[in-house]
Amino acid sequence: MLLIMARLSKEDLAQMNRDYFQSLEKEKLVEVADNLHLYAVEQWEKNNSDSSNSSQPPSSDNPFQDQPKSAKSKRTGSLQEKQKKDSIPKRKAGKQKGAKGFGRTQILKIGEIVSHFPNKCSACNQTKLFNNATPYMGHHVLELETTEGGLKIVCQLHHYYQASCSCGHQSLSKPGEGITSTVKGRTRNLKLTEYVLVGNTFATLIASLGVRYRLSRSKIQEFLFDWLGVKLSIGTIDRCIREVGIACEPVVEELLAELQLAEILHVDETPWYQKGKLYWLWVAINSKTAVFRIAPRTKEEFKQLVTEAFVGWLITDGYGAYRHRKRRQRCLAHLIRKAIGIAESINPRISRIGTIILEDLRDFIRAIREGKNRAELETIIRSLRGICYVGKKVKHRKLKGLASEILNDWDAVIAAVNNPDLPLTNNEAERALRHAVIARRISHGTRTTEGSIAYSSLLSVVETCRLRQINPWEYISSVIKLARKGLSPPPFPTSVVSS
Ligand SMILES: [Zn+2]
Repeated sequence: MLLIMARLSKEDLAQMNRDYFQSLEKEKLVEVADNLHLYAVEQWEKNNSDSSNSSQPPSSDNPFQDQPKSAKSKRTGSLQEKQKKDSIPKRKAGKQKGAKGFGRTQILKIGEIVSHFPNKCSACNQTKLFNNATPYMGHHVLELETTEGGLKIVCQLHHYYQASCSCGHQSLSKPGEGITSTVKGRTRNLKLTEYVLVGNTFATLIASLGVRYRLSRSKIQEFLFDWLGVKLSIGTIDRCIREVGIACEPVVEELLAELQLAEILHVDETPWYQKGKLYWLWVAINSKTAVFRIAPRTKEEFKQLVTEAFVGWLITDGYGAYRHRKRRQRCLAHLIRKAIGIAESINPRISRIGTIILEDLRDFIRAIREGKNRAELETIIRSLRGICYVGKKVKHRKLKGLASEILNDWDAVIAAVNNPDLPLTNNEAERALRHAVIARRISHGTRTTEGSIAYSSLLSVVETCRLRQINPWEYISSVIKLARKGLSPPPFPTSVVSS
């Protein structure tokens, strides 16, 4: 994920010419040549990489590459036709093309000047050189400062300096840059950079309001103006949330790798919408780590979450993608809820069978928790198995369904007989999903893959911090700070309180 900034800028290259090279002593010349070589290699690799041989997404591929001219013109032709046909244009989210833009109307009062100097000559790498530095560009950053009295927004003026070296080369300091996140069909890509209005901590606050406190973009706007006196556009607020989420993505990869080594893992899923299309929000969670993922509900997606390398115990519901896992305990709370429904049936016979299944399941949980001996457990499960065979033959859709479900997944239903320490319900996962279910009702899901990644990544980092009893926002601020420079995230903090 680490993207190295261009070693030499346009301005650097423009200064170099034959005369400059000729003026250099041999040692300096070698240094400059080496720099140019590194840069040339970097550019060559960049020119020769695409989604097939690098981590770049397919959307970054040149769409006109290897495409015959006729095919290209045909495609644009059909697109124009299609646009004509759609007589009622569908309104896109966000600012409309041609709509009047909103400039900054608020006048910023500078509270702090932050100076950035070039730390070495970009041509000859010499480090101590600058006694003639002058600022050549600047921009404003609104940053959140936590004081003893509470929160305060400070307007910083960042000054970037240029300076010349004894070799004659002019070097510039520049705002840092990180990865660029692309979405198909979007006009402006999301680039992680220090050249932005909203500082690291302030951006983290905005993301926390959106993801953890479930405020809509317009409510956040209202809050910031009412309580902090800052006017931000909805677009800026939305950008902050996505930016912080995208910066957290590599952290989630690390957490996901940790989960593959877990002894016990709870997995569950709930419906989610991405641009109105039905997706699923998955969660894989144990006592120390939680990872969320928004994706279609397929076996392949499940394998992204719980790889074949995972050899621990899974606690799940009855969904098919889990079935091939040998070490698995079924969530008995799911089955109990279904049994309650059947026990409440008007038909006395159906109700009686439902009640027996319900009581056997409850007895089983109690016996495991109280550490009853094997003979007692055997009696309960023999009764449960027997009544399920009876229920399977009855002409009642729900009862038949539940009895078959228990019998078909029998080994997973009673896995705790041989492993009494296994959790018997999936409460951890269900609780973790509840927050997102409320968010889904407020926001109707996400709109793009980028939005989904940002949301699920933030949720994963925040939930994991909660499990480890550490403050998520301090850590997330440091992640975004490094990501805006193109650097990898700091290691995930371990628990302050050990359990
Ligand atoms: Zn130099």
